[in-house]
Amino acid sequence: MSEIERVKCLIIGSGPAGYTAAIYAARANMAPVLYEGMQPGGQLTTTNEVENFPGYPEGVTGPEMMVQLRAQAERFNTDVRSGWVTKVDFSGPIHKVWVDETKEIHAETVIISTGASAKYLGLESEQHYLKIGGGVSACAVCDGFFYRGQETIIVGAGDSACEEAHYLSKLCTKVTMLVRKDEFRASKIMADRVKKTENIEILFNTDTVEVLGDAHGVTGAKVRNNVTNEEQIIPATGFFVAIGHKPNTDIFKDWLELDETGYIINKPGTSKTNIPGVFVSGDAADHVYRQAITAAGTGCMAALDAERYLASLEG
Ligand code: NDP
Repeated sequence: MSEIERVKCLIIGSGPAGYTAAIYAARANMAPVLYEGMQPGGQLTTTNEVENFPGYPEGVTGPEMMVQLRAQAERFNTDVRSGWVTKVDFSGPIHKVWVDETKEIHAETVIISTGASAKYLGLESEQHYLKIGGGVSACAVCDGFFYRGQETIIVGAGDSACEEAHYLSKLCTKVTMLVRKDEFRASKIMADRVKKTENIEILFNTDTVEVLGDAHGVTGAKVRNNVTNEEQIIPATGFFVAIGHKPNTDIFKDWLELDETGYIINKPGTSKTNIPGVFVSGDAADHVYRQAITAAGTGCMAALDAERYLASLEG
């Protein structure tokens, strides 16, 4: 028999969206309970320096910012817990959520802030430099600035890769784009823009064999043409991966409207999902902006929407 707990506001996920929702919900006396999930602090904990979040003129590290957001949420008595939500049942007016297969929570409102995970190639060398914060990144807008005046590599051929390659081209002396097929997946307009940019070199039919580096970080990549098998080394200090994101929404798919990639579809201009009382914030519903500040903004919206929903029930 699992233990059942009743809560007013359950927040799933602990990135900027979840913590901002918690700050607003706690200050509105909704006594939020927040479950951190597998990666407490979310994607930002894999980011070194955050320089584009307003309020930090000197910048802040991703982990430090998450510690501060958590402290701010706890200051207003958010109940922050570790635990992994494994199942939900949104069939009735009370939303049932199971944590770690054992604990059952009945929530009047649920705010989903489970985020998305960037996809990586999975190479050992790539993961090594990602872990040490030494030049591997999945976000050009976040990290491109650190490579200004330097050479970078970007992997991918979709709209994100094209957008990020173009972004990097304005900061870097040269951007080498590695495309595994002989064509882009991106829309023609985005691909054409990249093709027309002088300091972007596109290598089609090209796979990454290894990310190269030293004790300080990335120095380049060994790549192979998958038609000719010819290998070459490309010098670069930044290795960007833009091969897509996976929203962390699998457990909601039986209840919520998702798009074809799995992003939760919210009612435009709100955080409302198709289930009354269930709200979404952050990257779980956003494949376009994906920034800490936009996630925080939608976290605020979700808490306000949840508060108004509860008020409407009370009549
Ligand atoms: P996509 O899934 O569209 O593209 C992923 C790209 O990564 C593909 O080109 C794919 O190659 C490549 N890829 C996947 N795995 C590997 C691998 N192991 N090695 C090398 N390459 C790999 O993801 P995006 O993030 O680009 O876009 C997601 C959605 O967001 C899309 O619908 C897109 O249109 C949209 N978007 C729109 C923007 C805009 O309109 N401004 C901006 C950004 C995104 P392959 O083609 O060979 O399969």
